[in-house]
Amino acid sequence: MKSFPCMFGRSFYRCFWLMLFSTSAPLAAQDSVQVLLELNNIIPKVTNNYYLGDAQIRVIYAQKAGAPLIYFNMHDNENTSADAGWQVLREAGGKLVEVQHTGERNISFNVQGKKYQVDPNRIFTPTGIRKTLETNSRFDPAAAAEVEAFSTALVNDFGLKRGDLVVALHNNSADNYTVKDYLPRGTYARDAASVNFVAGSDADDFFFVTDPGHFRRLKSEAYNVALQNNATVTDDGSFSVFCGNFGIPYINVEAEHGHLETQKQMIRAVVRISTTR
Ligand SMILES: [Zn+2]
Repeated sequence: MKSFPCMFGRSFYRCFWLMLFSTSAPLAAQDSVQVLLELNNIIPKVTNNYYLGDAQIRVIYAQKAGAPLIYFNMHDNENTSADAGWQVLREAGGKLVEVQHTGERNISFNVQGKKYQVDPNRIFTPTGIRKTLETNSRFDPAAAAEVEAFSTALVNDFGLKRGDLVVALHNNSADNYTVKDYLPRGTYARDAASVNFVAGSDADDFFFVTDPGHFRRLKSEAYNVALQNNATVTDDGSFSVFCGNFGIPYINVEAEHGHLETQKQMIRAVVRISTTR
């Protein structure tokens, strides 16, 4: 297979993917399939391989009948959120997409012998790709093209732009990114249209949403939640900005590292509001 000529990309895997993708259903390019058995729940897990420059990135995908939403874990060092997502997927169904590479937050790669680094949650707009390359390494058009090809593949291959609710799964460290950052005079005040902080709660555990209806529901259930201002939000290339641009409903479930039970309970709240009015 490695000698098969490919006119589309530099890497064998991308070539392989495109050949299959063009003739069959999405997710045909399965490099491996694991089966997870628990309490009679059988969830096939599919691993797709991508290359960003010379860096191999594995994307784990699974689905189970149930809640009409897509869980999306893109930071490989935020394992509490991934664990919480897998556990609620088994209970409530839905789809789950998990990006894995080195266990680090950022993805490092080489293009034409030069080293680059990006934050995988800053690659969903052209401006964001430029900024994250500059911030973490340096901008280069060839590297930017590779990054854009990868983010486009993620979005297209896993149906992240079809309009289903996307539930981003993230973790933060104590007090370094909290719902209070979106309050007036907070670091990200201009990015938010509305904020609800519950006095006495842990500000690290909060939702960040793009849809006013979701904001109202979560606020009425006394959760910490910030509503993205889709008009004024800084274009940092994050997936919430992408969703704001394309009108895709998005809820980020953000919890402190290790807050597994809290994060599971928050994800269950999302399942509840996505399946009831
Ligand atoms: Zn994250």
